[in-house]
Amino acid sequence: MPALITPLGPKRRDHLGVILPHEHVFVDLRTWDQPGYGEADPDDVVRLMTPEIDAARDAGVTAIIEPGGIGVGRRADILLAVSRATGFPLVAPTGVYREPWLPPWVRDASDAALREWMIGELTDQIDDTGVQAGWIKVAATDEGVTESEAKVLRAAAGASAATGATIGSHTLRGAVAREQLAIIERTGGSAERFVWIHAHREPDIAIHHELGRRGVWIEYDGIGDEGSDPMFIDLVHRALDAGLADRLLLSQDRGWYDPAKPGGGTPKPFTYLSDTFLPQLTASGIDDTSIDQLMRANPFLAFAR
Ligand SMILES: [Zn+2]
Repeated sequence: MPALITPLGPKRRDHLGVILPHEHVFVDLRTWDQPGYGEADPDDVVRLMTPEIDAARDAGVTAIIEPGGIGVGRRADILLAVSRATGFPLVAPTGVYREPWLPPWVRDASDAALREWMIGELTDQIDDTGVQAGWIKVAATDEGVTESEAKVLRAAAGASAATGATIGSHTLRGAVAREQLAIIERTGGSAERFVWIHAHREPDIAIHHELGRRGVWIEYDGIGDEGSDPMFIDLVHRALDAGLADRLLLSQDRGWYDPAKPGGGTPKPFTYLSDTFLPQLTASGIDDTSIDQLMRANPFLAFAR
């Protein structure tokens, strides 16, 4: 029985409703060599983020996929602390962000060593925290996949093939997403287990649809960005018109506790999509069955294993 792998244990479809596939609880966008990188007291993160998670739950959200992997301050212990304090599942990733955020040990590791590390986190736990990774987060440089990023992606494809875990990649250009799919398929992975994160940043919608038809999950995850509602409503209509209702994911890329800011800064609420965007989507003619598919079925199918 497929389940979302969470710090609170596996969650089956019948225990979940709306799932947000890309929201952050804890991110540090400084590089690993900066003083204070990734440092925070879990209690402080719990204090700042609990009201945001409670508000999301009140808006009907039942789980969040957390995309902060190695390179952007991943702290599985913090995801566990927040999940426990709120009783709300945050799905943790294995995997590594793009250059120049790659730490030296990743640059020096072989394909095989990285693959085994990912498989260990996906099947056992992350850093002795008891938290099992739910999926694999990677990223690519905008101009094209670098050698180190290709190595991480090959390891991810191998780990995905071995465990059924989904790979999601921060990728801003369609040509780069296409290049990544070729690498994934050559290394034993599959389009159906690949999420193109930030797909809306590629202006050529034909590439979204091309990759969607090949089986890739197309994630439009900037919902709530200033003035972007008409664009996202149009993107949803076009994807549904292209027959891609079963390949589309919607999220906000919001949050989060930022250790670079005093007190973690001020998080952006996770509720914009439910409270403001979905009513507009309904008013634009998208029916409830389609909205259920986009907000409940798709994120579960994309990330469960
Ligand atoms: Zn993000």
